[in-house]
Amino acid sequence: MEKNVKRWTDPNGGMGEVDCCIIGGGLVGLATAYRFLEKFPHDSVLLLEKDSRVACQQSTHNSGVLHAGLYYKPGSEKAKLCVEGIREMVAFCQHHHIRHEQCGKLVVAGTVNELPRLETLWSRGNLNGLQGMKRLSVEEMREREPHVAGIQGILVPEEGIVDYRAVADTLAREIVRLNGEIRLQTKVEKLISEGTKWRLVTTQGEFVAKKVVNCGGLHSDLVLKSSGVQRPARIVPFRGEYYDLKPEAQHLVKHLIYPVPDPDFPFLGVHFTRMIQGGVEAGPNAVLALRREGYRMFDFDLREFWDAISYPGLWRFLIQYPSMVTYELYRSFSKEVFCRSLQRLVPAIQQEHLEEGSAGVRAQAMFPNGKLVEDFLFVHQGSLTHVVNAPSPAATSSLAIGRRIVEEIGA
Ligand SMILES: Cc1cc2nc3c(=O)[nH]c(=O)nc-3n(C[C@H](O)[C@H](O)[C@H](O)COP(=O)(O)OP(=O)(O)OC[C@H]3O[C@@H](n4cnc5c(N)ncnc54)[C@H](O)[C@@H]3O)c2cc1C
Repeated sequence: MEKNVKRWTDPNGGMGEVDCCIIGGGLVGLATAYRFLEKFPHDSVLLLEKDSRVACQQSTHNSGVLHAGLYYKPGSEKAKLCVEGIREMVAFCQHHHIRHEQCGKLVVAGTVNELPRLETLWSRGNLNGLQGMKRLSVEEMREREPHVAGIQGILVPEEGIVDYRAVADTLAREIVRLNGEIRLQTKVEKLISEGTKWRLVTTQGEFVAKKVVNCGGLHSDLVLKSSGVQRPARIVPFRGEYYDLKPEAQHLVKHLIYPVPDPDFPFLGVHFTRMIQGGVEAGPNAVLALRREGYRMFDFDLREFWDAISYPGLWRFLIQYPSMVTYELYRSFSKEVFCRSLQRLVPAIQQEHLEEGSAGVRAQAMFPNGKLVEDFLFVHQGSLTHVVNAPSPAATSSLAIGRRIVEEIGA
């Protein structure tokens, strides 16, 4: 080890002092630790993860898509960090030989009513600096996706698919190579301010850190609350369920096929995604989950459920969007309804082509007035930084988010 490298040396499991401590080993936490070590190679970095492996939550329960930044309001954090993020992620994958493919995505307007929204996407994509986008007629769409239905489309050639499990594992290896340390099965339970430093009370002892970054994903608001301040927004978990296309139907989708999203709804709508490891996924829908890590329909946690239903913001949201919430729930129970949504994009899809696939839970922050937090949201509390809202496209953007946080928290 280099002479002046201040390495984390606390074999007995507690009370050492570290320069930077990251809470949460999803893609955002891993990328932040990695970017910190790249910028400050002589500082000590400790990443604490409650699970027995890194990236077992949102970061590996997602669509595996590299988003290019088409949807996001120009100038927003999402727009900036997604456009930078996809380029950084592709470079990282190329450098580390991680499987990925920029196969392009087709966004399809199914009806005349959707054309103004397609137009908005086109101008947002251009303003955000996406490269090589094309407007496609029905014939041009069919040349690319012979089974697609719709009246007009946009091709986004930069978009692609990637193996996010491999990205996370590679980031973890890089952190260790750069002399950072990752402690698994270490849940942070409380954060206590000690002047400019923070004491972290965990299930594996206590640590003191000069800087702390909370990248707790589905639990980020609870980690924030444990530092003694009020939550500016609360995480409301939305489960997204997928179907897999059976092998005999996989030829119906060549790349990525997405609908034009409903602007009143924070998610992109059910879509088709060719997966990097093979096969095609269809989904996800968006239903309120009864537990933050509730990957199955009836997974339930009384404390978390109470935390959600005692939140006025949730009730205000339910009052604002009753039909959307009911429809998503109905679609979750009915394969027929799910299939009908998919047929709007690819009419040849039949129920018998679909088999139950995986599910993911989105950490979506909600303000007390019931509005969903649209943009990425970072909150600084002295030397403690919270990543309060990092839903999609945060996997794509993770390396850019990490770089941004490190720039903000400085040396
Ligand atoms: C269904 C679905 C589809 C998606 N599709 C895409 C996509 O195609 N492309 C894209 O870019 N994004 C997508 N996303 C979004 C993307 O996956 C997430 O935004 C991203 O993974 C967030 O990463 P994270 O590190 O913030 O959270 P996570 O991956 O959830 O990681 C948070 C980590 O913190 C740990 N943790 C929590 N509390 C504590 C504690 N107290 N102590 C220690 N550790 C703790 C957790 O165990 C977890 O490992 C999708 C998300 C979902 C759910």
